[in-house]
Amino acid sequence: MSKQGGDPDHERGSDRRQTLASLLGAGLAGATLSAPGRARAEATRMAPIPGDELFMRMAIAEAAQADFPFGAVIVRDGNVVAAGRNQGTSTNDPTAHGEMVAIRRFVAARPAGELKGTTLYTSGEPCPMCMGAILWCGIGRVVFAASIEELATKIGQIMLTSRAVADAAPFATISITGGVLSAEALALFSK
Ligand SMILES: [Zn+2]
Repeated sequence: MSKQGGDPDHERGSDRRQTLASLLGAGLAGATLSAPGRARAEATRMAPIPGDELFMRMAIAEAAQADFPFGAVIVRDGNVVAAGRNQGTSTNDPTAHGEMVAIRRFVAARPAGELKGTTLYTSGEPCPMCMGAILWCGIGRVVFAASIEELATKIGQIMLTSRAVADAAPFATISITGGVLSAEALALFSK
């Protein structure tokens, strides 16, 4: 079994130090990591729960119709309340990632405060732009299928994990689950 096919939770737990070191350069990383943890957010790892695959299939169904195969749904109290798919070319908007479109649709219909405590399912791990938006919106949980590392084998990615972005946001508390139906999400790139 390949490394990427392994236990996603375990893989998510792969060394954050290594990620930061690659981002910051070895010299800086040591100093940063030795600093007190007070500025770190609580970005907790969470194993998949019942229902995750159901909602992920909806996100992947959105992705299947997208300009680039990325889709997202936002779930509140067990119900899908917004969905989005990448519309980067059809709307002439490179920021129209699936997550951004779902969030914009949500706030077009509901108070933004109701995003707090929702779960966002996305076929691809949120990029730094989308993860920033997710954190600003107070979304409580993110579930993704394919990781940025996996997506980078298919399409250009900013090599910064959702966890790294969340960990840099001291105001945010969020849980992150990765690897739910990642093979199905990645398969869309072959179509
Ligand atoms: Zn994005």
